[in-house]
Amino acid sequence: MSSRRRKPDWLKMRPPAGERFTEIKSSLRDRDLHTVCEEANCPNMGECWSGRDGPGTATFMLLGDRCSRGCNFCDVQTGGMEALDPEEPTKVADAVAEIGLDYVVLTSVDRDDLPDQGAGQFAETIREIKRRDPSILVESLIPDFQGEPELVEQIIDAGPDVIAHNVETVERLQWPIRDRRAGYEQSLSVLERVSRESDIYTKTSLMLGLGEYDHEVYQTLSDLRQIDVDVVTFGQYLQPSRSHLDVFDYVHPDKFETWRQVAEEDFDFLYCASGPMVRSSYKAGELFVEALVR
Ligand code: SF4
Ligand code: SF4
Repeated sequence: MSSRRRKPDWLKMRPPAGERFTEIKSSLRDRDLHTVCEEANCPNMGECWSGRDGPGTATFMLLGDRCSRGCNFCDVQTGGMEALDPEEPTKVADAVAEIGLDYVVLTSVDRDDLPDQGAGQFAETIREIKRRDPSILVESLIPDFQGEPELVEQIIDAGPDVIAHNVETVERLQWPIRDRRAGYEQSLSVLERVSRESDIYTKTSLMLGLGEYDHEVYQTLSDLRQIDVDVVTFGQYLQPSRSHLDVFDYVHPDKFETWRQVAEEDFDFLYCASGPMVRSSYKAGELFVEALVR
């Protein structure tokens, strides 16, 4: 089924607005910082940034805007890697403090070209944020670091509150959806290392609408719980451009709700955010805090 079909009504985007939105945007521009929220023109900016019912969330992209990998679903530019900005940890921490965010998601491109794949700078950014205000909750959405234990441990040692790593899709569809250097087993091993070696919450995300079968999604939930992953999210895959992978189907909102119930009730995940517009960091602060007090 081609994504060039008309999108269903439930995928119509609402443009972000509001005083808080404008304030955050200008603070980011002053520092020449960029968020995934804006780069991906994420439809959830209004909700996430305002933190209407709880902590506000924004997602910062670290280690540059070019990735050493090329996944067929992702719009980030590939190749032409640039040197890291040594000031990045300080700049991001300053922006977080000034904006007054309560929950920050840090993510990055993959940097297979660097000796430590960027783990050191990622860890330093977490530390800088916590140094300024230890009460800010930090979620680190990390690459797989090629499964190298000591690189994952650098992130654990920096002390974020949540470590996320996305499996993206069910085992059968890992390729051609993800870059050949990524893979289901490797991603599970990253998550397992975090849950085995620390008390840090773990989280992962899957896109639906790529041709996965229900029993495969169910099996993935089972695999994730076996290694004690705490949080899972489901969102609709949307094709960024015609050169990216086609959407297989638009999953109905009721089906997303079913997966939420299955994850929370059958598998006892701490929480599951699931919906056509959900992205891995969707209202992450609000939902995380709500789940902890439940
Ligand atoms: Fe995009 Fe991540 Fe794949 Fe790089 S590794 S192309 S940032 S999904
Ligand atoms: Fe930003 Fe993630 Fe929320 Fe989108 S879902 S606005 S990327 S925090």
